[in-house]
Amino acid sequence: MSATNQTIAPRILAEQLSYRINSTQILDNVTVQANRGELVGLIGPNGAGKSTLLSLLAGLSNYSSGSIRLDGTALQECSAISRAKTIGWLEQNGEVHWPVNVHRLVSLGRFPHLSTWQKFSETDERAIQSALELTDSVHLKDRDAMTLSGGERARVLMARVLAAEPTLLLADEPVSSLDLGHQLQTMDVLRNFAEDKRSCVVVLHDLSLAARYCDRLYLLDHGKVSAEGNAATVLSNENIRNVYGVNVIAGCESIPWIVPHQLVDKTGQ
Ligand code: ADP
Ligand code: MG
Repeated sequence: MSATNQTIAPRILAEQLSYRINSTQILDNVTVQANRGELVGLIGPNGAGKSTLLSLLAGLSNYSSGSIRLDGTALQECSAISRAKTIGWLEQNGEVHWPVNVHRLVSLGRFPHLSTWQKFSETDERAIQSALELTDSVHLKDRDAMTLSGGERARVLMARVLAAEPTLLLADEPVSSLDLGHQLQTMDVLRNFAEDKRSCVVVLHDLSLAARYCDRLYLLDHGKVSAEGNAATVLSNENIRNVYGVNVIAGCESIPWIVPHQLVDKTGQ
């Protein structure tokens, strides 16, 4: 399928994706998509396959079967440079492995836009500054990135991805190490990112944030899509109980909230 005036291809469409490591099936017949302007949430318990799926969407691993199309074009037909410009991938628990100052680290996000020996332009500097501001990292710009706290590092690594100005953002647990204020700030950034025909797929463990911010959700369990749709459909007490083994208390008073209450008694007693 290619984009035409009549039909706009999804930003990313993965169909019947399967992925195995040796004899272990990690993803089994998974179909997901993110349309332009959508913030899509990927939820599910530890080991469900969320990070694996995100890395496949980023083109970082080869799947066993199925297909992935980026803006209507088979992902493997997109050049590495085109993928680097289009797809921003924020890995789970990203690390900084060498001493580098934060501004320099964030500026690495601009490299796909530069040719060899090309200097940073005003456009590049603006993108870097904007990314630092969006992640509340301006005051960190002269710090050695290796000395940052876990939450500061997570924000700076998000800034590097944002500085690249991708049209598809794949963010793996971007708020897991953040304080409450920076969680909301980051979710607002993702929400705004998805406006203007860009798209974001975000892995979240906080179901309240998922319900509040995401247009659609995919609930992954044991490598399969267990439920998909809007928050009301996916985050039913029954789905959460079946997949997470937890009873929740939930409600909606100006914003939706879902609080884990107790483990399900597996003996059925
Ligand atoms: P999630 O992000 O949902 O927590 P992952 O996608 O990281 O889960 O992992 C999915 C499953 O694949 C897990 O059971 C994990 O242990 C397994 N897995 C991931 N990478 C490997 C690997 N290199 N070898 C064996 N199993 C792996
Ligand atoms: Mg993960």
